[in-house]
Amino acid sequence: MSTAAPEAPARTVPFEFFDTHVVRTRRLGPTMLRITFGGEALRHFTSGGRDQRFKLFLPHPGQDAPVVPTDAGDAWFTVWRSMDPSVRGIMRSYTVREQRRFPQHELDIDFALHGVGDPADAAAAGFVPAGPASRWAATARPGDRVTILGPTVDDNGGVDFRPAPGTDWVLISGDETALPAVAGILEWLPAGTPAKVWLEVPHAEDIQTLPTAADADITWLVRDNTTDPRTDFHLASVASAQLPDGTPYAWIAGEAGTVKALRRHLVGERGFDRKRVKFTGYWRMDTTEEQLVEEAVAAAAGATSE
Ligand SMILES: Cc1cc2nc3c(=O)[nH]c(=O)nc-3n(C[C@H](O)[C@H](O)[C@H](O)COP(=O)(O)OP(=O)(O)OC[C@H]3O[C@@H](n4cnc5c(N)ncnc54)[C@H](O)[C@@H]3O)c2cc1C
Repeated sequence: MSTAAPEAPARTVPFEFFDTHVVRTRRLGPTMLRITFGGEALRHFTSGGRDQRFKLFLPHPGQDAPVVPTDAGDAWFTVWRSMDPSVRGIMRSYTVREQRRFPQHELDIDFALHGVGDPADAAAAGFVPAGPASRWAATARPGDRVTILGPTVDDNGGVDFRPAPGTDWVLISGDETALPAVAGILEWLPAGTPAKVWLEVPHAEDIQTLPTAADADITWLVRDNTTDPRTDFHLASVASAQLPDGTPYAWIAGEAGTVKALRRHLVGERGFDRKRVKFTGYWRMDTTEEQLVEEAVAAAAGATSE
């Protein structure tokens, strides 16, 4: 599966490091928190829109700013990996929700909080404590410093939503971690593009209004409304849908197990051309992003030695 999480974007993509800080935060619902970053350093940050991804480096508790080898050039990933994990910046993958140049250089990132908040949840079976990014976001304050590894030109390798020529309609599916990307894709789609969209969120209050000129049919899947496992719930809705005629392009992102099941359904049962299905595990149940990175490094090393 394509997992953008562990990919180490080379600075030649072209990506650069940007030191930035929190300007303000805003709750969008029980799960989603928008953090706006700002500062003159963002002047050269250039989002390609859609599902523009980038790497975010966070400080450990007690650190003033993340420790990132920004001077190491293209060797930054090797240098970062060789550093003490309790010291080096915590690296995570996120999506640009919106970039503004006026009146100030600002970047919005929408964080899906998990494992934080209601202490009653912590007692529930299957509760997974927050990872460092979710914890950091939940307590972020204006002035808090982070480093971003992001694009400097809009046509860059961190945009994955690229419908192939000849596409008649698009199928889009994501969970709350992919909601910022889906919002960006819907904003970008040309007017009138037929789009069947599934968005899975924990609570009804997480549903957002998503502006688009596309002819979008959006199905919100609220996990509060079901006792079914998340993958079954999502898959059942897609599997029972009547899909438009014509040549599709599909974009799927979210929890890796659900993404895999949806992709298998589209290719195996619906006959989608696998080259027309872009699928990305944005996170995986019971696995931290560090573990995903190490898996990807091991897989790449295995592929090289074969
Ligand atoms: C290309 C890309 C773009 C992404 N864009 C966004 C974005 O814009 N907004 C966003 O919120 N996320 C986004 N994500 C997902 C985000 O990077 C992961 O959720 C990440 O694991 C969060 O880091 P953490 O430190 O909170 O948890 P980790 O330390 O990585 O994981 C700790 C535990 O929490 C679990 N976990 C991780 N995420 C979730 C979750 N959402 N719900 C429940 N359990 C979880 C893990 O399985 C693990 O057991 C994106 C991922 C990719 C690959």
